[in-house]
Amino acid sequence: MNIRENLLTKRSKNRPWFPLIDLRVIVLHWTAAAKQDIDVTRDCFESGKVYGSAHYIIGHEGDCIRCIPDNEIAYHVGSSWMDPKSGTKYTDHAYELFGKDAFSGKTSYGEFITPNFFSIGIEIEPLDLDPGTLSEKSLDTAAKLCAELCRKYDKPVSIITTHNKIVAWEHCPKIWTDHPEQFDVFVKTVDLFLSKM
Ligand SMILES: [Zn+2]
Repeated sequence: MNIRENLLTKRSKNRPWFPLIDLRVIVLHWTAAAKQDIDVTRDCFESGKVYGSAHYIIGHEGDCIRCIPDNEIAYHVGSSWMDPKSGTKYTDHAYELFGKDAFSGKTSYGEFITPNFFSIGIEIEPLDLDPGTLSEKSLDTAAKLCAELCRKYDKPVSIITTHNKIVAWEHCPKIWTDHPEQFDVFVKTVDLFLSKM
């Protein structure tokens, strides 16, 4: 698959240049910006106007850029807020997938440890905001990228999840929050790609 590399500036606000401790989870997101160009999203991370980033961004045409290397952290899945329904920051599924040590303590250089230290984040640009359609081309690229990462790092597809499944109040990606069964179909597609590699 064709991945264009356009890395964020080292030590910028959204690329702190901290090493990933261990890859345990792949988290899928949407940008909540209909048909936005992937370079615009990348430049938004670069500008530092928003606090947030991801390793990969996939466009509605199936195009893809890497803006943070896999072995560094991005800011995509840490939560500062409690979910109003459960009263917890993270879901039970998050604790199962990441392990308890991904939520407490500090690194040797003094950073608070969060799930960002154990995950790769992938943003997908939607076609629309409601219902939050993800194009066939973007889903195809996302599935191939996930399969490629599972193969490369020798991980099962069960490590693939959504932002919403980790942080319950985040409706991200919207379509898979509203229709979790469609996400299950996506993971099956990843599994199929992986079996053919
Ligand atoms: Zn998200």
